[in-house]
This record gives sequence, C-alpha cells and structure tokens, in this order.
Amino acid sequence: METIRIPIIAGDGTGEDIWNASREIFEEAVLRSTGNTKRIEWIPVIAGLKALEHKDLLLPPETVDAITECSLALKGPLTTPVGGGFRSVNVYLRQMFDLYVCMRPVRWFRGLPSPLKKPEAVDIVIFRENTEDLYRGIEWQAGSDDARIVISFLKDKMGVDLRPDSGVGIKPISRTGTQRFARWSMDAAIRMGRRVITIVHKGNIMKYTEGGFREWAYETAAGYDELSAEALPGKIEVNDRIADNMFMQVISRPADYDVLLCPNLNGDYLSDACAALIGGLGVAPGANFGDNVAIFEPTHGSAPKYAGKDMVNPTSFILSGAMLFDHIGLAGTGDMIRRGVERTIQEGIVTYDLARQLDGARPVSCSGFGSEVIKRLHA
Ligand code: NAP
Repeated sequence: METIRIPIIAGDGTGEDIWNASREIFEEAVLRSTGNTKRIEWIPVIAGLKALEHKDLLLPPETVDAITECSLALKGPLTTPVGGGFRSVNVYLRQMFDLYVCMRPVRWFRGLPSPLKKPEAVDIVIFRENTEDLYRGIEWQAGSDDARIVISFLKDKMGVDLRPDSGVGIKPISRTGTQRFARWSMDAAIRMGRRVITIVHKGNIMKYTEGGFREWAYETAAGYDELSAEALPGKIEVNDRIADNMFMQVISRPADYDVLLCPNLNGDYLSDACAALIGGLGVAPGANFGDNVAIFEPTHGSAPKYAGKDMVNPTSFILSGAMLFDHIGLAGTGDMIRRGVERTIQEGIVTYDLARQLDGARPVSCSGFGSEVIKRLHA
C-alpha cells in the first residue's frame, strides 16, 4: 500500500477540536476512494503558541523541514496576539515558503444557510496575493525612535507632514509580486474552466499600489489568448472593480462574479464577507500556494472562546483537506469528502453556527459532525 505523508499543524484554540473531528474522515476517504491502495501517514508538527511553549520558538526547524520535505502541510488556525507579542505566524509561514497565492473557493450548496434570496448564485473563487501589501508587516509604533526617524525623513526629504505621534506602516505592491500572482491565478482560472476574472483594487485612491496592481494584472492578462478584456464567446472576460463597490456587488449580484483577483488586505476582508453568504467562517476552506510548497488551512481563526468545547464547525478544515487531496492528484478523494460534507449538511445535521441560522436543523457537536460525515463517505 502506498503511503502519503502529510505534515499536520493542528493549531491553537479550536484547532485540536477540528483536527480530532476530521482526521478519520481523511483517512477513510483516502482508503475508500483509492480501493485501499493508499493510506495517510500524518507527521504532527507544531508552530505558534504551542511551539513557543515547548521549544521557545515560533516555527521550529523540524516543522520547516517536514513541510519542505513533503512540499505541503495541512494546518489548523494559529493564534496571533493583538498589539504586542509576536507578529502573525501565519504571515511568517506564508513569507518563509513564499506562498504567494491564497485561494479561497466560496460555493453555496443546498442545506447551507444564507442571507441571500438566491444563494445558489454564489460560486466564486477568491485569489488573494499573499506576500505584499500592508501584510508585509512593515510598521513602526507611535512614539518609537524608528517612527520618529521615518516621520523626519518623510518631512525633510519628501515634504510629507505627519503628526509626530503617528504609528507608520508601509504598503508595498510590486509589478513582480503582482504579475507572478496574476499568472498563477489566471492559469488556475483557465484550468478550472471559469468564465470571468475580476481584478479588485482601490486604485482610485491608492494609485501607485492598488492602481499598480490593477494595471499589472491587466498587463498579465494581455499575454493570454484565452483571456479578453471584452466579453467574447469562448474567452474568459477580464474586468475590474473598485474594492468598496466589490463588497456591494458580491452581495447584490453574486451571479456576475466568478474569480476575484485581490491584493492582500482586500482579499482577506472579502474572503470573510463572502463566507457570510454561504453560512459563515465555519464552512470556508482555503489554501496557500508557492512554487514549491502548498499549505491548506481554513479561513477562520482559532476562535479561542470555543476551544476544547467540541462545538465549532470542522467543515472549513475538512474542505481544506479536500483541496489538499485535489492538489496531490487525488481528486476522487477530494470529491468523496465534499460529497460526504454536502450530504450531511443537506440532511440538516450541522454544528451550532449553522443550526442557529436554520429552522429544523439537528445540531451536533464538532466530533459528532465528523462522525456523521464518515457515515456518508461513499461514491
Ligand atoms: P476567528 O477565530 O475566526 O473567530 C471569529 C468568529 O468566527 C468566532 O467567534 C465564531 O463566531 C466564528 N468562527 C470561527 N471559526 C469557526 C468555526 N470553526 N465554526 C464556527 N464558527 C466559527 O477570528 P478572531 O476571533 O478574530 O481571531 C482569533 C485568533 O485567530 C486571533 O489570534 C487571530 O489572529 C487568529 N487567526 C488565525 C488565522 C489563521 O490561522 N489562518 C486566521 C484568522 C485569525 P461566533 O462567535 O459568532 O460563533
């Protein structure tokens, strides 16, 4: 029997709950969908708070080595303290492995609650640039020596007058970063047979960063025969929308949107907003891709107030795992997992987050949901 080695970072907060509820689903789905010819060997590794506690390091070398060796990992949420403490390990992981594309499919299926009248129109793939923008983490605390130096430099050399008690951040968006991201995302959109690509930006205000993102993404699109800036038969249309309008459009006209290409910060906001259209953060999966490594993780965070209560929805994590199997060429396993989840939710068997939005649902625990999905893992 062939063994598939997968590093797993269960994560902080509710990470253990969702991992415990999902593990057997992945193992069973691989066995059943491959006719018992493949099995998973998990490689448990740690990062973030647990790694700080046990190893005094945010990202131990064993974790980095395992991910590098396997070229992938499945990851639960990691807690990042607000304000002081360390910078996000999630952001650090993305930068360390140069995971420059974050992909978040948002698709409604029957049984999911939605604030929309026609939720079946929601089938959008969000691609978010993952390494640049304000998430680069270049900022200086108000009152610090560094902030004073930057503020003086801006005043003396650039004629920019900032209040002396300002915190200051830098928003870098490059042609190189945008175009490698746009190429990856456009290739994926073509492979997936999508119909429209929308470049999302706030280029009317941030002309040289978000405006650059728009211009460079269009430049990339111009190199593809399959894409067109006009709606033409047989071609994928490429258009653009200003970010604030985009937030309205995904709610008011979701059927018009198919693939969104977003800079880092707007992509983060939009992913959560779109998740609300299909039941919330508990059901929205995600993956981060670089040229050598891919890390699959739910859109939500560690929801610490629910930690250890066996309550939260493991669907986002389960569907992120399904994306991992698609990525390693086991699309049959991914499909089996997705069908198992859909059947369970369609029968009204859901965790608290969906139950509170649905009439007549049968609420189950996090692990209870996992057990119900296993019963529905069949072709
Ligand atoms: P969060 O953990 O995503 O939780 C926000 C709310 O979303 C929860 O209170 C809950 O809503 C809902 N939710 C989250 N996960 C859910 C699940 N599995 N099932 C059902 N509902 C779920 O966001 P946060 O409270 O802003 O962040 C907490 C920590 O996570 C922070 O340290 C943050 O930095 C970190 N974080 C990590 C990642 C990552 O690892 N990639 C991503 C985002 C945030 P209700 O209270 O309404 O039930």
